[in-house]
Amino acid sequence: MKIGTLASHSALNIISGAKAEGFDAELYCTPDRVPFYRAFGLGDSIIEINTFNEIFERDLSDVIIIPHGSFVAYLGADKILKSDLRIFGNKELLRWEEDRALKSQLLTEAGLNVPEEFSNIDEIDCPVIVKSYGAAGGEGYFIAANSQEIVGKLDPDKKYAFQKYIVGTKIFTTYFNSLFHNRLEVFGADIRYETDADANLRFDNNPTFVVIGNLPLVLRESTLAQYYEMGVGFVEAFKRLTNQQLVGPFCLETIIDRNQTIYSFEFSGRIVAGTNVWMPSSPYSFTLYGEQMWMGRRIAREIRDLLEHQKLDEAIG
Ligand code: AMP
Ligand code: AMP
Repeated sequence: MKIGTLASHSALNIISGAKAEGFDAELYCTPDRVPFYRAFGLGDSIIEINTFNEIFERDLSDVIIIPHGSFVAYLGADKILKSDLRIFGNKELLRWEEDRALKSQLLTEAGLNVPEEFSNIDEIDCPVIVKSYGAAGGEGYFIAANSQEIVGKLDPDKKYAFQKYIVGTKIFTTYFNSLFHNRLEVFGADIRYETDADANLRFDNNPTFVVIGNLPLVLRESTLAQYYEMGVGFVEAFKRLTNQQLVGPFCLETIIDRNQTIYSFEFSGRIVAGTNVWMPSSPYSFTLYGEQMWMGRRIAREIRDLLEHQKLDEAIG
């Protein structure tokens, strides 16, 4: 059994982790990026393809695919859901993540504090962030102080979500739900750094939210305890709503305001790029494992443990 992924997003994290756990790895790489991944010593894993879509034409029956942010962005959730790819994780969770209404339902069922959402512009009574459907990485979002500021800014062919704008610090907390150990592991936290919302100097009031990268963050331990409970609530809510297990890595995307209230505005049901800051270990994974344990390696370790106990099928969507 091999572990494979697309050459982008968190591929260094995933492929180095697979190798550390003794797996053969496959990195599906477009020609322009081959020199880059070779430069990290991953040349022996590279499978050159002309476009990412070519992975659907290959026989990957002996490969466990690790999905990351580029999968949905470049291939589309629909194609992934319908494919025969052996994906580590839960495809049903991907469906809940894709649909904004289902997403809010799951966050709310988990007991999380979701920023108020408005389905109609006329109901808006506070500053909002306007999110177009299908947008990724904060691209195309804008903020509005009131409903008048939205008028004339919407594309009639697009669908939008209007969410109360929360002022605070953006905290992305990552987790690993282990089927093998039947436990939730808090992996780490990071701050998503976005341009130009996070720029120090701004001369207008119209920030963009394009992701540039991530900064590591160690939370107050009392706050971390709250995040642990939130993660447990999320895993349990998914089980209640779908009768299925949440498998492996996920992330709760939150903002903590000045009252230390934690708002959850999003989740990702897969490895997120924020875990790249915790190579080769996070304080929490080191505490738990006593050895270097980054998210790519943690995924590979779980696959190995499940394989050895003939339980891997439970973790493949
Ligand atoms: P890229 O290959 O860098 O264009 O990223 C592929 C997808 O993953 C895009 O939708 C990006 O917005 C998203 N992405 C990449 N890096 C990050 C990150 N650090 N945080 C959040 N999203 C990201
Ligand atoms: P998303 O695509 O939902 O992950 O959001 C992209 C970025 O928009 C986030 O990283 C935040 O900076 C910002 N954002 C999203 N929702 C809110 C909100 N309700 N209040 C304030 N900022 C938000």
